[in-house]
Amino acid sequence: MPIVRFETADTETHTAVGEGLTRLVRDADRLVVDSSVGKYAVEHGDGCGECGEHVAPGDAFYLDGDTGEVLCERHGRERRGET
Ligand SMILES: [Zn+2]
Repeated sequence: MPIVRFETADTETHTAVGEGLTRLVRDADRLVVDSSVGKYAVEHGDGCGECGEHVAPGDAFYLDGDTGEVLCERHGRERRGET
């Protein structure tokens, strides 16, 4: 499964996602329906799975569809093999 990049976090804990991403987010066990930020949202309040850094509103972050981990910008890029 892919590692998806989210351009802009809505809040420190949740970011709205389009319907096309709900399956991936659900498989990662991070889907919230009827959230405060939109009909579907990804829950990311635990922060980066590598370094624990919290996602701040406005930040980009990643979701690893294999492990279900949220990743910060730096570690998401690393895991994708980008530097
Ligand atoms: Zn990190």
